[in-house]
Amino acid sequence: MKKLLKGIIDFRQRFLRRYREKFSKLAQEGQAPDLLLVSCCDSRVAPNVFASTNPGDVFVLRNIGNLIPPYSQVHEGDISAAAALDYSLLFLNVSDIVICGHSECGAMCSFFNAATQDTSSLPLKEWLHYAEISYLKFKELKKNNVEFEKFKKSHASQADLSDHNLLSQLNVLQQIENIKSYPEVKKRYIAHQLRVHAWWFDLVSGNIYYYNENLKKFILLDEIEAERLLLKGLST
Ligand SMILES: [Zn+2]
Repeated sequence: MKKLLKGIIDFRQRFLRRYREKFSKLAQEGQAPDLLLVSCCDSRVAPNVFASTNPGDVFVLRNIGNLIPPYSQVHEGDISAAAALDYSLLFLNVSDIVICGHSECGAMCSFFNAATQDTSSLPLKEWLHYAEISYLKFKELKKNNVEFEKFKKSHASQADLSDHNLLSQLNVLQQIENIKSYPEVKKRYIAHQLRVHAWWFDLVSGNIYYYNENLKKFILLDEIEAERLLLKGLST
C-alpha cells in the first residue's frame, strides 16, 4: 500500500500534467483500444511497462494463470472472462486478442507442488481446474523423454526451458484453443476480422516471445518479428 500511495503522489507531481489532456480526451471521447490482452494477475507482469503502452491503448483482462474457460463450461462457473471478451468484441470491436503467459507463473508451478495443491483454497482450486487440460498435455509429453526433449527444441522459446515454464507455454496455446471455442470469436476469426495471438513473457530477460503458427514455435518478438506481424494484416 505504501508503494501505491507513494506512486500516486509521484505521478501527481511528475506526470499528471503530461497525462491530463490525454485522460480528459479519453473521458470525453471514450476508449477505443484495438486489442484485448489477457494476462496473469502476477504483480511482475506489467504490460504497460514491457509493451510501453499508454492509457486507452489496451483493454486488459487479468486473472490467475491467464485462463479462458472453454465456451462449453462458461455457464457452469466464472463468467467474468467471458463478459470481458464479449465487451471487447461487441462494444470495442477489437481486431486482435493476445493471451500472454509468463515465466515463473505461480499458477503453473502449483501443478508441480503437492504442498501448494493441499493448501489452496477451494475457489483457487476450482479456478485452476481450467488449466488442468494443459497439465494433462504436459504429462502426456513427459511420458517419453526423447520425444519431450524433441518437442521442447522445436516448439518452446528455449530448448532448456524448465518444466513449469514449458507448461506455461502449453497453457497459453490451450487458452488460444479455448478462446476460439466462443462463437463470436470463431465467427470473426474465420471472417479474418480478428487475429488471436499467443505470447509469453520471460521475467528473467524481459523478452516477449510470440507463437509463430507457421513454425509452430515461440519466437522472440524483436523489431523484425514485430514488423512482420504488422505487415501480416487481418486479411492474410
Ligand atoms: Zn502467473
